[in-house]
Amino acid sequence: MNFIIPISLVDSPQHSSPGHPENPARFRSIRDELSQHLPGKIQWLEPEPIQPDMLTTVHPESYVRFIERRAENGPGIVDYGDTYVTRSSFQDALYAVAATLGTLEAILEASASKGFAIIRPPGHHAASQKAMGFCLFNNIAIASRHAQTMGLQRVAIVDFDVHHGNGTQDIFYADPDVLYISTHQSGIFPGIGTENETGYQEGLGTTINIPFPGGVGDDGFDKTFTAIIQPALYRFRPDILLVSAGYDAHHDDPLAGLQVTGKGYFEITQKLVGYANELCEGRMMMVLEGGYNPEALSSSIRNSCLALAGMNLPETAGTGVRFSEPDIQESLQNIRRIHSL
Ligand SMILES: [Zn+2]
Repeated sequence: MNFIIPISLVDSPQHSSPGHPENPARFRSIRDELSQHLPGKIQWLEPEPIQPDMLTTVHPESYVRFIERRAENGPGIVDYGDTYVTRSSFQDALYAVAATLGTLEAILEASASKGFAIIRPPGHHAASQKAMGFCLFNNIAIASRHAQTMGLQRVAIVDFDVHHGNGTQDIFYADPDVLYISTHQSGIFPGIGTENETGYQEGLGTTINIPFPGGVGDDGFDKTFTAIIQPALYRFRPDILLVSAGYDAHHDDPLAGLQVTGKGYFEITQKLVGYANELCEGRMMMVLEGGYNPEALSSSIRNSCLALAGMNLPETAGTGVRFSEPDIQESLQNIRRIHSL
């Protein structure tokens, strides 16, 4: 069965810094790619402006004002790394959040609906009071809280970006109603996300980290979904599935060393669609995080959208794996033990 999928696309053209990998060129071919391959299957959404107080379910007002002031003061860095703002960044980041919330609302208004907020700046490294890793506000965390205010108590977030979503983990670390599952390459930015980080107090057990050695690709992800992600989601029984969809685990991505293929992203999304259909009446939203090779990003997003719409993958979707994958069976067994799966 085919579905119409609500999609927001916010490319924030003024939020740009010379030579920075998180730049508007990432989005240059996404809209055309989707229009061409999913004709009649997309409901393009226009974000409604939101007020800064929509952010305060996650970020205190003092932090929101800090980002606003820093952006007003002109181009600069807002962390100890390379998270930049320009004069437009506060408004751009507000639009990214607005688009995410608008997509969520469109999903909740339709039955068995799945959507995608294709937005920048990304969000999963932003903690409650800290910009980090190109992220200013945590889009998916704000969406999680918004889903809860709309009556969906239990939220599951699956984060398949190649980097650990330290901000999202931190925000929900003691929260038993939000399950956070992250797959990521170990030993790269932000340097946390070990299997022993499992939550705190009431939230103990609702953080699941799956660090990978370099070289893991489609096969490793497939085994991980079977061994950990599927049973963890079925045990948690979420009311909605949110996905931090970063495409920087792609074999052509310049920032990391995993080797997921375009076909792999179709299969990952298809699995998540299946879980959403079985567990939460089909409710599922993907929110873009990383992905720094524009061609790989647009074709991978297209493949995810094909899976969201219940369509098939074209034959031309290649593989491109360069070397054999490391064996992660032992590490998966260890994580199963830690979480009693
Ligand atoms: Zn990333």
